[in-house]
Amino acid sequence: MARPLDPAEAATAAMVHGAQVARVDTAGVTVSGVDGLVSDRPGLPLLASFADCYPVIVYDRNRPAVGLAHAGWRGTAAGIAGELVRTLEREYGSRPADLVAGIGPGICGDCYQVGQEVAERFDGFARPDEERRFRLDLVAANRAQLEASGVPAAGIHVHGACTFESAHLPSHRRRPDGARFYCLVALR
Ligand SMILES: [Zn+2]
Repeated sequence: MARPLDPAEAATAAMVHGAQVARVDTAGVTVSGVDGLVSDRPGLPLLASFADCYPVIVYDRNRPAVGLAHAGWRGTAAGIAGELVRTLEREYGSRPADLVAGIGPGICGDCYQVGQEVAERFDGFARPDEERRFRLDLVAANRAQLEASGVPAAGIHVHGACTFESAHLPSHRRRPDGARFYCLVALR
């Protein structure tokens, strides 16, 4: 039986809203300058916190190896989901066709209002709204990146909960009180 996960061993990304992804081999580290982590170490939890931005998880069951990224609009515009896949390829020889992916809760495409300067960074994923601003669909943008990186569409699973609409998940847009939810990913 696998031993229990130890929270003190969790590796975290400093989260700077970029697209850098780091390989983690050591428990308990915080990696500066990155928004994504990959590891092939069983029992080494990857941990990140969210409050409207999306967790993106990629899993290679053959290697096995796993990755976790923090995808807000900046990271998504910079291509972090694609970078997560490329890092698994580079570090572990993962084949994108073997990968399965998960996109966690976040602010949905009906609720996430952005200005034109953000919208114009997303070709086809932001639509004009009735308030002369835009609504940005980060799930669709991240799904497209994963598919463009070779992850099979059938292997991409979307949680679907909207943090802004949920009474149970923290949303920075709805209530900017610093509350966050956590996503923990580990190989057993
Ligand atoms: Zn929503």
